[in-house]
Amino acid sequence: MSGDELCDLTATELRSRLVEGEISPSEIVESCLHRIEVLDGQVRAFLTPTPDLARERARAVAELARAGTSPVAGIPIALKDVLTTRGIRTTCGSRILETYVPPYDCTAWARLSAGGSILLGKTNCDEFAMGSSNENSAFGPVHNPWNLDTVPGGSSGGSAAAVAAGEAVWALGTDTGGSVRQPAALCGVVGLKPTYGLISRYGLIAFASSLDTVGTFTRSVRDAAMLLSVLGGRDPMDATSLDQPARDYTASLSGEVRGLRVGVVREALGEGVEPGVRSGVRSAIDRLEGLGATVGEVSLPHADYALSAYYLIAPSECSSNLARYDGVRYGLRVPGEDSMQMMMRTRGAGFGPEVKRRIMLGTYALSAGYYEAYYGQAQKVRTLIIRDYERAFASFDVLVSPTSPTTAFRIGERTDDPLAMYLSDVFTIPANLAGVPAISIPCGLDEKGLPVGLQLTAPVLGEELLLRVADALEHELAFDAVPGLVRG
Ligand code: GLN
Repeated sequence: MSGDELCDLTATELRSRLVEGEISPSEIVESCLHRIEVLDGQVRAFLTPTPDLARERARAVAELARAGTSPVAGIPIALKDVLTTRGIRTTCGSRILETYVPPYDCTAWARLSAGGSILLGKTNCDEFAMGSSNENSAFGPVHNPWNLDTVPGGSSGGSAAAVAAGEAVWALGTDTGGSVRQPAALCGVVGLKPTYGLISRYGLIAFASSLDTVGTFTRSVRDAAMLLSVLGGRDPMDATSLDQPARDYTASLSGEVRGLRVGVVREALGEGVEPGVRSGVRSAIDRLEGLGATVGEVSLPHADYALSAYYLIAPSECSSNLARYDGVRYGLRVPGEDSMQMMMRTRGAGFGPEVKRRIMLGTYALSAGYYEAYYGQAQKVRTLIIRDYERAFASFDVLVSPTSPTTAFRIGERTDDPLAMYLSDVFTIPANLAGVPAISIPCGLDEKGLPVGLQLTAPVLGEELLLRVADALEHELAFDAVPGLVRG
């Protein structure tokens, strides 16, 4: 392995070679499958690989890929296992759905599939997307390709690790509080969480419906723009889907940031941020200034309360969404003497400890007598955070911060301390509460040789601007490090 096989290239590069007729979708698929075979025993990104299906699809879409009409045709992808795929097991990383085979495709995959995309398989994740390290999966942890003793981040850890290891060209994840951006940062790839409602949630198995978004893992910002162009746009199957036409997000990638006002989030470069992360982000900000952007400081004064508000709102919604796993309709059933005992046994055996913790927290926060003090209060904080962003975007075009306060941490390091784990998302959660788009791009390596992620945030539906700035900075930084595992 060298890091420059077909499976290591960007989708942009592969697409142009496909259109030129230099390569075929089958060759790309074989390259990814070979990489999975060589590395996935160590990385463990995939829960359900679909090699036969991928080979068959590669042959079927060969002509479409050559025609060049769809940006995703002929390019293999991995999907987080919370996105439903018709006829293919979808577990949510949970025992309770271990054998669940959905009868329908999520809209995100349906659109990609119609565009000639090729599914490589379903990726591991924290159970029901609750976690920041992938250690809450019922099927074991994922290992970060940069250092197998460390976590890939979570909850979309399998998708992030697969793209970092060359096991997939790109992948989809979901981001409710940071689950695309944080693992992207820890694995040295690009992670985009679009505006809430821009990509349909139909078929995204719900965790916290007012926060859940589908997001992308790619090797470049241009690839993210390409994927979003196919994924975006109104879907009548999702009531929260925005009334936006699909558009070509690559058109705005001009490389130009001159005169743009960039606000550095003051609260995000202080206490608790590792020195390697701080210096990586600081020097990237200097480079952005060098490109002609105007840099200033900005405050999100209520961001300090975002984590607390999130850990009331997300568990509350989760406690309601996960009530459907009752042993009656789908998934696991553990028999009991009556229906109540059956449900208790099913849920007791089917859910892991973190999911149970969230259900209990959420049930408590929503219960009569506590509702106003907890859930109601958290919703008010959410409004204050939305206003913080509105104020910040009155003076700045985009905001910048680290994606995560630390680089990849060791497997097991935070499993006994839920609060330490929750803090991994302190910089990503505010964007979910406000519904604004944000992206993480790699901006360097720390002293341990682990990737550092930089987060850019834009106003609602500011994807074009967000991607333009991210793309310009990506070119300027020219981050081209590859995990040692891939270099061989
Ligand atoms: N780590 C956060 C949580 O555990 C965010 C998860 C997510 O975005 N799905 O809730």
